[in-house]
Amino acid sequence: MPLSLFGEAKITIACNQEGITSFSNEYVNDYILATLLRTNDSERLGLYLTYSTDGVLIDVDFSYLTKDDIPDARKEEIEKKSVEYAESRIASFKKQTGANKIGRNDLCPCGSGKKYKRCCSN
Ligand SMILES: [Zn+2]
Repeated sequence: MPLSLFGEAKITIACNQEGITSFSNEYVNDYILATLLRTNDSERLGLYLTYSTDGVLIDVDFSYLTKDDIPDARKEEIEKKSVEYAESRIASFKKQTGANKIGRNDLCPCGSGKKYKRCCSN
């Protein structure tokens, strides 16, 4: 299946493998909406790939989400998740790079697209 991306396509890809991982579409959609809030993107494509136990791609699904997809009743909950995911990205970054210090002028690992000093350094 051909996949063409033009311009600034923002994509979140969720890979599931039978018997190993199984993220529900609700979980991934919440993750994408929380990411949207963090990055201040107007829209984000969610791509859901499912692999069999022997590594064959057996299912592809997608959803196209915007901030309008966040119901008013769930705004606070999604905002809270947005902060949790940002903190988790920073913790993973530090763990993976072994870097205890993030450069003040580096892009913030939380995914906001801002410099660290203007984002999560406090
Ligand atoms: Zn940040």
